[in-house]
Amino acid sequence: MKSYQVAAFGAPLVEVEAPTPAPKGAEALLEVIAAGVCHSDLHIWEGGYDLGGGKRLSLKDRGITLPLTMGHETAGRVVASGPDAAGVGAGKAYLVYPWIGCGQCATCRRGDEQLCAAPAFLGVFRNGGYADHLLVPHPKYLIDLDGLDPVTMAPFACSGLTAFSALNKVADLAKDAPVAIIGAGGLGLIAIEILKAIGGRGAVSVDIDPVKREAARKTGALATVDPRAPDALAQLTAALGGPATAVIDFVGSSETAALGFDALGKGGKLVIVGLYGGAAPWSLPLIPMRAASIIGSYVGSLAELRELVDLVRARKVAPLPVVRCALHDADKALNDLRAGRIIGRAVLAPQCAPA
Ligand SMILES: [Zn+2]
Ligand SMILES: [Zn+2]
Repeated sequence: MKSYQVAAFGAPLVEVEAPTPAPKGAEALLEVIAAGVCHSDLHIWEGGYDLGGGKRLSLKDRGITLPLTMGHETAGRVVASGPDAAGVGAGKAYLVYPWIGCGQCATCRRGDEQLCAAPAFLGVFRNGGYADHLLVPHPKYLIDLDGLDPVTMAPFACSGLTAFSALNKVADLAKDAPVAIIGAGGLGLIAIEILKAIGGRGAVSVDIDPVKREAARKTGALATVDPRAPDALAQLTAALGGPATAVIDFVGSSETAALGFDALGKGGKLVIVGLYGGAAPWSLPLIPMRAASIIGSYVGSLAELRELVDLVRARKVAPLPVVRCALHDADKALNDLRAGRIIGRAVLAPQCAPA
């Protein structure tokens, strides 16, 4: 099999030829049809996150070892499976749930493998989809695509799931009042789309970029707000029809967290997804006085990804716009993403004819 690996942080990906593995036990071997190139792959590739103020979060210290085949948004066709891989349909196309935990601890047994303290995430802690084949440890991580396009479905395993799980944390409140959605990049726009599908009252989108605010309006936002306007908070409250019951922050900076918290009414919830960085800006007594909930959200569960695929199948959520690239252009796709040259999501499709 051929894969494109990170051999050294920050260095170009290396093409590696190795024997195609034979699945053992409950494993399934997939021929990769599509592998999404996610923004977080840039951080893995570079070896860390800039935390601001000269601090850096090192992924090496967090247990990421090289060489690594990245790729956590993978769809593929089953070509072989181990003797204990029950229910796997040979030749069928599946979306792969990558946020795999130890499977044994209380968190995993509860169905929140994405929060396991011993993660085995595909494309992060073990080899992922930047390859022509992918080994998946158990059939339970395979979601039957049943006629859906694997290439446009691949990015749902990370970006779609992240937006969906954040919305699920305020789904009860979203039915009664609009949700403030901070950030109108990829995740913010998907969230506006998914909010409609789950019966939400609508979104008020907040972004500093007028082009992104326009994209949010086209996606169906009820209104948009420029957070740098001197009366941004008043505009946001007016657009929501009162203090916010739910705010989702896809940026995660001190500025956006301050605006989100200040907009909350009593009993309101602020869900933080973005990893931009900085320190918490609110004063502690206001949290109990407003009975506010401040919640972090990280990707999503296997059950949520199954639910999301069902929403796409029911045509309640539109497939994501993608740019198709050949597998051997993995390195170029990462560079294009870093340079902001990709509109939509880049997806490596090994069967794409070489450019
Ligand atoms: Zn676990
Ligand atoms: Zn991702």
